[in-house]
Amino acid sequence: MTCPAPERLRSLSKQLSTQTSPDGVPTGLALLNKIGLTVNVWSGKQLLRSDFDEMRSFLDEAAAAGFGYAELGGCGLGVVMAGQVQRSRLAALRDSLADCPLRLTLHSAWFSSGRTGNLLDATSASVQYQGLRADLEVAAAIGAEVLVYHAGVLANRYSDGAELAAGMATEREQLRDLADEAGARGIMIAVENRAPTPAVLTRRSYGMRLDLVAEQVREIDHPQVSMCLDVGHAYLAASYLQYDYLAAVKAVAPLVGHLHFHDNFGRMAKQPEADAYELELLGEGDLHLPPGWGTIPLAEVLAVPYPREPAVIIEMRHARHYAEALETTRGMLTAPIRA
Ligand SMILES: [Zn+2]
Repeated sequence: MTCPAPERLRSLSKQLSTQTSPDGVPTGLALLNKIGLTVNVWSGKQLLRSDFDEMRSFLDEAAAAGFGYAELGGCGLGVVMAGQVQRSRLAALRDSLADCPLRLTLHSAWFSSGRTGNLLDATSASVQYQGLRADLEVAAAIGAEVLVYHAGVLANRYSDGAELAAGMATEREQLRDLADEAGARGIMIAVENRAPTPAVLTRRSYGMRLDLVAEQVREIDHPQVSMCLDVGHAYLAASYLQYDYLAAVKAVAPLVGHLHFHDNFGRMAKQPEADAYELELLGEGDLHLPPGWGTIPLAEVLAVPYPREPAVIIEMRHARHYAEALETTRGMLTAPIRA
């Protein structure tokens, strides 16, 4: 493993106060100690379903390697069942995370933030609201700082514009309510942009457009709600909807309170039913590759100033390459200093 030596990191940290752009917005260096990794069922290993102890040793290893954060995937935890927190599972999760050296965030489960609809979908919004409340309870119990929520989708793609507008209004209202509760528990809700995958393409949505996610967050207008910029989803969406990727990222940067960082080739899956292995072979779809393995201009994305200083969560498959991913990401964050 070739992480920067501790002295180099310390000297980089010391430069934090001076590394700001002329208008005082922090540069990438401010994010250097906020790099995290996800631990979930998509990491290539069933870490969570089998054993929280195994998850804990992975988190300890990640902390020793230099990560500052971990994002737990709500789906893999098996703590929320039918929209309710399962008490003994939560107790086991809490025990396993006692004195965890990493700061934590939580990705909401698909139940509340899902493939089939969520707060946008009036036919199921109330059930899914309940699911998100349960996620919030889990986040509070483990001391998570952020709860990630996927921007909603309607039940089908033929819904008209009025339904979409009504759905977005419901979503805003319910996220505002949840945000009051989140705020009381010191948690920020981050609304994540979506990729052009079957879950989104087969339904009506707004989440593929960064400008619309930003508008939704702006209209929610709550201090505990920000945007989760998923750089890989945005790259695929920009290619699908033909917008300028970096210009769109720059435009929403002031609202970004959380970052999902990973790589892909910006190519839509022509055969979405192909399994993950086949899609990797083809270089298509939302691959969640380690940074540097695809073609996203990730260094440029990290060179954009993010005034809210989001955690940079590496949300990748091939979990065993986490040390390489950390080194690559650090290299991108510190590159402007070397230049
Ligand atoms: Zn993501």
